[in-house]
Amino acid sequence: MDLRRFGPLERRVPVVGLGTWQMEGNDRTAAIVAIRRAIELGLVHIDTAEIYGRGIVEEIVGEAIAGYRGDVFLASKIHPEHATYAGTLLACEKSLRRLRTDRLDLFLLHWRGTQPLEETFRAFEELKKEGKILAWGLSNFDVADVERAVEIAGEGVIACNQVLYNLAERDAEHVLQPVCERHGIAFVGYSPLGSGQFPSRGSWRGDVLAGIAAAHDVTAHAVVLAFLTRRPSAFVIPKSARADHVAELARAGDLVLSRAEVETIESAFPLGPPKSKMPYV
Ligand code: NAP
Repeated sequence: MDLRRFGPLERRVPVVGLGTWQMEGNDRTAAIVAIRRAIELGLVHIDTAEIYGRGIVEEIVGEAIAGYRGDVFLASKIHPEHATYAGTLLACEKSLRRLRTDRLDLFLLHWRGTQPLEETFRAFEELKKEGKILAWGLSNFDVADVERAVEIAGEGVIACNQVLYNLAERDAEHVLQPVCERHGIAFVGYSPLGSGQFPSRGSWRGDVLAGIAAAHDVTAHAVVLAFLTRRPSAFVIPKSARADHVAELARAGDLVLSRAEVETIESAFPLGPPKSKMPYV
């Protein structure tokens, strides 16, 4: 598993992690087995959020990681409506309780919202001082918001920006990813498999991926993750609640595509012109 520097953090983090959105809708036992399999295979960056299943998913993750806490790079997110100074401290306590842990490795502001960033960031720093979070970052922040956040927090403080990034949605490559790189902020792609809209087998685009996958004896899903993490600032957090799928995704962790393969994927799934508004799920 390729481990990379995660923004300004000393800790190295696997290029492929595991998402947990909508896991409350999956078989609970299977989801827990899948999370544990992910950790065993080195996909230790586990991403969740207080709003996933209204707390249920954090509880599932808490149960899954009990006994593995030392290995896990645990990330959760605060809903922006809660992100006042006091609200941030409280939301963190609640997440810690549901996750059955005394610390988060990463606490993210889920999206920009309307609370003053100064307040949220002050609370993040307080939580860091208390050892309840080890780092904090952003999610769904566009270029202007990232620049503003860096102005407030200073350079070398913000760990990451977690944004929509997959083959159909490569817009971040135009400006957002380079801006994150310039500020030393890790770029984390969410919904990397298209959130259920994966190019189907038998379609010409699906066949492009399948051909490359066959050459490496991996699945098309692993090829996509390797493509999305071809730049050293990038990480991905695909979701799966199936242990067999997780094992397939883990193969992306040390899969290196040739320049020709990258170019083939780039032309089958073109970047397109820059969008005026940042895409969200
Ligand atoms: P995704 O990872 O793009 O796709 C997940 C889908 O792919 C699931 O239906 C999963 O089904 C399927 N899948 C996974 N591995 C597979 C495999 N090897 N073969 C076939 N199918 C496979 O979708 P996502 O959940 O939208 O995004 C990933 C994570 O990003 C989320 O879970 C969440 O943690 C995070 N996220 C963050 C935000 C944000 O605002 N910050 C927004 C959206 C998502 P199975 O479960 O059956 O394998």
